Amino acid sequence: MRDQLAAGQRTFSFEFFPPRTEAGYKTLWEAIRRVEALAPSFVSVTYGAGGSSRERTVEVTRRIAAETSLRPVAHLTAVGHSVAELRHIIGQYADAGVRDVLALRGDPPGGPRKLWTPHPDGLTYARELVGLVRGLGDFGIGVAAFPERHPRSPDWESEIRHFVAKCRAGADFAITQMFFDAEDYLRLRDRVLRAGCDIPIIPEIMPATDVRQISRFAELSDATVPTGLAQRLHEARDRPADGRRIGVEHATALAERLLGEGAPGLHYITLNRSTVTLEVHRNVHP
Ligand code: FAD
Repeated sequence: MRDQLAAGQRTFSFEFFPPRTEAGYKTLWEAIRRVEALAPSFVSVTYGAGGSSRERTVEVTRRIAAETSLRPVAHLTAVGHSVAELRHIIGQYADAGVRDVLALRGDPPGGPRKLWTPHPDGLTYARELVGLVRGLGDFGIGVAAFPERHPRSPDWESEIRHFVAKCRAGADFAITQMFFDAEDYLRLRDRVLRAGCDIPIIPEIMPATDVRQISRFAELSDATVPTGLAQRLHEARDRPADGRRIGVEHATALAERLLGEGAPGLHYITLNRSTVTLEVHRNVHP
């Protein structure tokens, strides 16, 4: 994947999360098999906030590596882990044939705006995790990027400085937080380039199809939903099919604009139900 991006080839990829229930596993694997038929560049599996969800991340990622033709990118966060534990998990991924890791700091309990406290024997910033993964094997390493700035960054100057530090520590590519306005992505990309870093920054695409989702997005990611889109979704709140059409239309237009502006690929959030994102993907890559 690192080579594909370095060669300037456009990627398309899909993101899943570890399910909690048997029914959730069934839905996830149906989505994985649908996506597999499209031969994406990679798929990624998010890392749980704690406890058993983390074991499920490792399990799902290993199974994708072992039982499908897909290339899994394993998300990994520093939250609540000692360096020894992080080494162990990276070793588990390597043993399972996983070759790409998205190295993240993670959020403190309560969300990205809360005060971050590192594990006493752990890491403080994603940059250190990039360095740790880099030292443990020949992994492709991705990092997070924030088109609307990380919620706790005081200004753009420090945001970009810390992002560039992750590149210098060995990141090969970045995937953005979800966003709904192409200008936010383009401004971030230009700022990073001006700071002397040219790693591919892959935009994350998440179709907003339901007005109730919007407050959840704000809570989880601080992503701003443009007033016009929010208004249209509000008007369609009792007509799910219309909400879906509006979300797909907006995400398709966003994805086309980003590719037109030279984005290196598109990373689609699936919520483990691939249908809406696959519709956007089909529109963009007919
Ligand atoms: P960092 O790069 O460490 O940055 C965190 C904050 O610290 C930023 O404000 C940064 O500017 C600042 N900072 C960095 N270095 C320094 C320094 N030296 N001094 C002072 N300040 C500094 N979370 C999960 O729990 N599981 C997931 O699977 C997951 N997947 C994600 C996937 C993507 C594509 C994205 C964009 C985010 C994901 N997240 C996930 C959320 C992410 O972990 C949080 O947003 C987290 O708050 C920031 O992570 P980071 O890796 O960017 O941290």
